Amino acid sequence: MPKLNEHYQNLKENYLFSEIAHRVAAYAKANPDKKVIRLGIGDVTLPLGSLAIQGLHDGVCHMAKAQTFKGYGPEQGYRFLRDAISAYLARNGAAVDADDIFISDGAKSDTGNISELFAADNVILIPDPVYPVYVDSNIMGGKTVTYLAGNAENQFLPMPDPNVHADLIYLCSPNNPTGAVYSHSQLKEWVSYALAHKAVILFDSAYEAFITDPALPRSIYAIEGAKRCAIEFCSLSKTAGFTGTRCGYTIVPKELSFTASNGKEMSLHAMWNRRQSTKFNGTSYIIQTGAAAVFTEEGMKQCQENIRYYQENARLIAGTLAQKGIRYFGGVHSPYIWFECPGGMESWEFFDYLLDKAQVVGTPGAGFGENGRRYFRLTAFGSRENTQEAMRRLEQLFG
Ligand SMILES: *Cc1c(COP(=O)(O)O)cnc(C)c1O
Repeated sequence: MPKLNEHYQNLKENYLFSEIAHRVAAYAKANPDKKVIRLGIGDVTLPLGSLAIQGLHDGVCHMAKAQTFKGYGPEQGYRFLRDAISAYLARNGAAVDADDIFISDGAKSDTGNISELFAADNVILIPDPVYPVYVDSNIMGGKTVTYLAGNAENQFLPMPDPNVHADLIYLCSPNNPTGAVYSHSQLKEWVSYALAHKAVILFDSAYEAFITDPALPRSIYAIEGAKRCAIEFCSLSKTAGFTGTRCGYTIVPKELSFTASNGKEMSLHAMWNRRQSTKFNGTSYIIQTGAAAVFTEEGMKQCQENIRYYQENARLIAGTLAQKGIRYFGGVHSPYIWFECPGGMESWEFFDYLLDKAQVVGTPGAGFGENGRRYFRLTAFGSRENTQEAMRRLEQLFG
């Protein structure tokens, strides 16, 4: 009989989205005449831009001819895409060597897999609330997590405590679910802390393309010194609508080198390269030709048009909450609006209330951590029409 990885017993039941689906289905069955509007899922809805589609078509055509056919590609991704991403980052104020960029099938895999490079006895800081993958992947590896409390007092942007040591710090900015974005000076404080403690920041910038204020950093490498203390994860999922197409990238600078217990220097770049070359055989060539089209200036303009559409939805949601005196966060540099449940309700209680009284579906904050217990997330990824209708219902509900 195999001995199992019993750390899996320590995972919380992954019931958030299945529980939402279950409650919505039960409601719809009991109320077949009511139209339910879903502003809960963190998934895009607009189709890909024409240039991304052309890039995908080009990749397919190459596969049809012997001269351009591609078999296995480099595990790290094709040079043409790594160069295109490096140029894109440079336009966003971050100088990143194309060699430090690893192409993948998305940021979820990479943010989960990265924990393999680190031993079990590190002090690991993870924000609460946040994207649940960081916590769960560490628990699967038998690791202990320390939570960094995000709350209304710190605007859901927890800052380092110089007197408390950490080895690994996960940061997500713009944050899922709160929409909060670290400023340049705040990230600088994190980088200084990491350098002083010889810690590594694992920075998830999946929503960087939603940042409209040029003063806000879109990459941790916009901060001096970050290449000596940070790994960055990004994805085309929210930037370019690639949630179903699948493409992401992870930046592991060659500067990230640490001394092992036997005195040997170990490079995180070399370790990640070895890990990927061993366990991953590269992202589909066709997807990479589509992705390269996204990172051209024209391709990114098309992505920005879709992002503007979602941001207008976010503005409508935020406007309604503001008008009703409900305290909210995010909604500007993010597709998410995060607000305190009215009347001191718990998030699942509010979920049922909103479904029953307004037929609007959101995401209970409890699904993102203990500190989300009294908060609620609405997303801007719906259609304009549905968002407007949902806001009319909220206005009536909150009189
Ligand atoms: C959506 C999302 C991702 C992207 O995951 P993919 O696997 O690339 O689709 C990564 N991080 C956060 C915080 C997200 O919300």
